Amino acid sequence: RTVYVNGEYLPEDQASVSIFDRGFLMADGVYEVVSVLNGKLLDFDGHMARLQRSLAALEIANPLAENEYLDAHRALVDRNAISDGLVYLQVTRGNPGDRDFAYPSEDTPPTVVMFTQAKPGLADAPAATTGWKIVSVEDLRWGRRDIKTVQLLYPSMAKMEAKSRGADDAWLTEDGFVTEGTSNNAYIVKDGVIVTRELSHDILHGITRAAVLRFAAEAQMKVEERSFTIAEAQEADEAFVTSASAFVMPVVEIDGKPVGTGKVGAIATRLREIYLEESRKAAV
Ligand code: PMP
Repeated sequence: RTVYVNGEYLPEDQASVSIFDRGFLMADGVYEVVSVLNGKLLDFDGHMARLQRSLAALEIANPLAENEYLDAHRALVDRNAISDGLVYLQVTRGNPGDRDFAYPSEDTPPTVVMFTQAKPGLADAPAATTGWKIVSVEDLRWGRRDIKTVQLLYPSMAKMEAKSRGADDAWLTEDGFVTEGTSNNAYIVKDGVIVTRELSHDILHGITRAAVLRFAAEAQMKVEERSFTIAEAQEADEAFVTSASAFVMPVVEIDGKPVGTGKVGAIATRLREIYLEESRKAAV
């Protein structure tokens, strides 16, 4: 693979960052993941807008302009001949030359890293027709989950807990309510109404979530933004998750109980079709 590090395109085995980089020592950085279908970038502007918000929340000056990120994304897709896959982008507070809790001076340049992941057939994942099994795990993450930091240890632990229990992913719960999945936003459907948690510091403001809620409204589907419990989800007609890499993924089982008929739901399937169709049309 050819990867991007601070303005340079290098073979992955020649790319490096300092051991003093605050991303490495302190998880002091943010990231984005953009999907690629047919060599084109999905929801690129949305991901760049969120990158800007995440950086601003951490007081890291954005080192590149949006068109520079776009050029780099396209260059990596090109050089790695990606038809379907992902582009991962990470910006950290950089390398102050030593370890210290206090932020370094503002002239420390942020570290920018980008790489591609080829995912042939990304839009035709077999799981979309069989659905995911979910288990619930307590949400023990920090209180600013709206900032897309590289601090991903707890979601990794929850993912491993899900795998060890024979499930595909975990839904995290706090005070009895579902916050979100380990790397996706969570939804249920009851009597034709789509329910998903309202935006706050408690969840990541998914770019796919925003698009799907817009498409749902355009298709005259009813949407309620509010919290729900695992018990309510188990009694729902359908459940699903959204993310840039899973698009809309049906959920068919929660903590061992089938959701609805236990088969992928019609609304989740329809939303997946609409999302893929509309995002492909708008892809850059
Ligand atoms: N929540 C969390 C915790 C995530 O990590 C992600 C994926 N990065 C999402 C939600 C979905 O966000 P998006 O649709 O922007 O990929």
